Amino acid sequence: MSKYIPLSVPSFNANEKKYVLECVESTWVSTSGSMIETFEKSLAEKLNAEDVCALQSGTAALHLALLLSEVGMNDEVLVPTLTFIAGVNPIKYLHAEPIFMDCTDNLCLDLDKVEEFLENECQWKEDRLFNKKTKNQIKAIIATHIFGNMVDMPRLMAIAKKFKLKVIEDSTEALGTYTLDSGQYAGTFGDFGIYSFNGNKIITSGGGGALTAKKREDVQKARYLSNQAKDNAVYFIHNEIGYNYRMTNIQAALGLAQLEQLDDFINKKKQHYQQYIEKGLILLPFDKNIRANYWFYSLLTDNRDELLQYLEEKNIQTRPLWKLIHTLKPYENSLSYKIEQASVYEKKLLNIPCSVGLKEEDVERVVAEIQAFHN
Ligand SMILES: *Cc1c(COP(=O)(O)O)cnc(C)c1O
Repeated sequence: MSKYIPLSVPSFNANEKKYVLECVESTWVSTSGSMIETFEKSLAEKLNAEDVCALQSGTAALHLALLLSEVGMNDEVLVPTLTFIAGVNPIKYLHAEPIFMDCTDNLCLDLDKVEEFLENECQWKEDRLFNKKTKNQIKAIIATHIFGNMVDMPRLMAIAKKFKLKVIEDSTEALGTYTLDSGQYAGTFGDFGIYSFNGNKIITSGGGGALTAKKREDVQKARYLSNQAKDNAVYFIHNEIGYNYRMTNIQAALGLAQLEQLDDFINKKKQHYQQYIEKGLILLPFDKNIRANYWFYSLLTDNRDELLQYLEEKNIQTRPLWKLIHTLKPYENSLSYKIEQASVYEKKLLNIPCSVGLKEEDVERVVAEIQAFHN
């Protein structure tokens, strides 16, 4: 039997063991320590961000970003239906409601429809925007950068300004992606940017996430809330309800070793992507005006589920696109607006192996099997 080619597995060939061992030997393994501080500083430097707060997960980061955007009971938040469910659930944690939006051909939020919705389906009351149908206030937009592509952020920020909405960039899949004209990184355009370092993201800390924000106070507030809102550590004084969302030193150690390799990982992923194309696959393109991080590669096929099955039998792991969130049970009764494109992609899209450690012969085998299936 031929070697198993997984969809996406991490690559630990640099300082990972060294840094993690340092934590263990120093006994600093929990929610404070120098690795956390160094990780935050390095990430902020990489992103040209003033400050970054390291957290337990991308989900926790999104929860705090929504909270700090003052999203609360019955407020409404625009969010793409084509995303991972963790990019939506925190809206519900705050007893707010999502309004699901369509995607465009780069799989990210369709800004024409976002603008159309805000223009036609909403109305002002004083200087706040309300949904005409539900009478609830619209508070924020979650812009999710799918698979390493990017929402047109300058345009979205102009829309958000016009309608007085907060913007949270879900950059969990786009760490390292930046625009070519300004060199500005995904996650640093919005009021908030969130990142994830889960096992299959471009870099991993085992589990982990981060939050950055336009206002430094917001990042500091997130750090405070993530650590049980501790005002005095000696006398256990807490003046707010906090969370246990802080990243641990061990996670940060692993994350730091990975962050040192981010650009190397992106270069390798770009190479593999180009090899797939050179060997004859047609993959969805990454936007021309960005340096993408090439996180996940997308193939479109009319026989998606048969192809997935066929490749599984050939020891090649692939993955269909997520089920659209507005069709899932917890969101069956939620609002959605003119979802069309996302439904087309949902039926046809298959992600193919894209690990950093992929070999050229792996790429060749994947392409050969896909071509054999289609012939
Ligand atoms: C991975 C991911 C998240 C959640 O990140 P975790 O660190 O797993 O909590 C959120 N949104 C999107 C789009 C993701 O891909």
